[in-house]
Amino acid sequence: MSKKTIDQLDVRGKKIFIRADFNVPQHDDGSISDDRRIRATIPTIESVLKRGGSVIVASHLGRPEGKGHEPQYSMKAVAQRLRELLAGIAANVHLSGALPSQALAEAAALKSGEVLLLENLRFEKGEKKGDAQFAAAIAPYADAYCNDAFGASHRNDASMLALPLAMKPKPCVAGFLLAKELKFLGETLENARKPFVAILGGAKVSDKLPALEHMIGKVDAIIVGGAMAYTFLLAQGIAVGASRVEKDLVEKAKGILELAKSRATKILLPVDHNCGREFKADTQKNIFAGAIEDGWMGLDIGPQSAKLFAAEIANAKTVIWNGPMGVFEMPPFDAGTLAVAHAVIQATKSGATTVAGGGDTAAALEIAGLSPGLSHVSTGGGASLEMLEGKKFESLVPIDEA
Ligand code: AMP
Repeated sequence: MSKKTIDQLDVRGKKIFIRADFNVPQHDDGSISDDRRIRATIPTIESVLKRGGSVIVASHLGRPEGKGHEPQYSMKAVAQRLRELLAGIAANVHLSGALPSQALAEAAALKSGEVLLLENLRFEKGEKKGDAQFAAAIAPYADAYCNDAFGASHRNDASMLALPLAMKPKPCVAGFLLAKELKFLGETLENARKPFVAILGGAKVSDKLPALEHMIGKVDAIIVGGAMAYTFLLAQGIAVGASRVEKDLVEKAKGILELAKSRATKILLPVDHNCGREFKADTQKNIFAGAIEDGWMGLDIGPQSAKLFAAEIANAKTVIWNGPMGVFEMPPFDAGTLAVAHAVIQATKSGATTVAGGGDTAAALEIAGLSPGLSHVSTGGGASLEMLEGKKFESLVPIDEA
């Protein structure tokens, strides 16, 4: 089943409420440090404006407490960035006053080709609580609802779920970004071409456990890197020195290794490790094959592991990747993550469908300029991981089927 998309909606003379995910990282001075999430929704906004509609676009930003306007969480910087990105496309981009009543008057006055960016939805406590009353107060703003906020779609905030429900029977559609995310993280993975290889990494086993368990039996191989690998190595009785482990999960990890064996899912763990004495870039370094000596911590997979993983990835027809192979923010411990990225890109070139998700994996690919080499890099961190866990999102239910 696929969702109706914004281009299938007649928008001429209509006001479209677009729920976007503009929860962007900011520098201390409030300026935006990474505008990927804003850029990702521009095609949806543009599609409405170019066809004679107007746009009311809304998002949350940061974690205000729901006590009204807090200047450090204002959407001001987002409005400015939107103005730059929509130059020549939008007649103007206006930042709203307080919700719901002031913004209601501004929405009513909106003309074709104009954009009204609502102030931070989380200034209102009803947003985070998924409050139906708050949703009912903003439902009259627009003639149709468009969800383009994949990064927030695993949450039932008022603007994600109660709002489209309150706006019915007005049309509710998916924006281009949401549709693309669902296509890759939903359909492609559900009907994955085999061999299907999952790559999981990152800091904690606990974060990735549900995804790991969901994948067993569905994928042919799971490559495990990052700090989470050390808990699994410990479960196999391999010494990991001072590496980061979750001791309380060692038994669970043993169970997972057995379950994988019984369901013919191969689990690949690193066979060598790029280690440091301390958790810093200029620490004393050493590569250990097999056991890691006391006093050393694994900060990245080693070169033999990178080769082993690359060989598995080379055979894949579908690859899903969530979590870096090491402390990629601290070169040279980014080498394993980059080697895996290049293997995934090579697989894409050979015809595999390759999808990366999770904030850190996307950041690692972006920093290295490698994102375009994959079939899809998800904008959603938590949401993309929950899709790998097989969760169905309630917020997608009100979106009309195509
Ligand atoms: P996650 O958000 O769970 O995907 O984890 C990403 C974080 O895991 C990044 O900040 C990495 O620096 C960190 N990480 C990856 N490998 C290791 C490791 N071997 N030791 C400590 N942290 C790691």
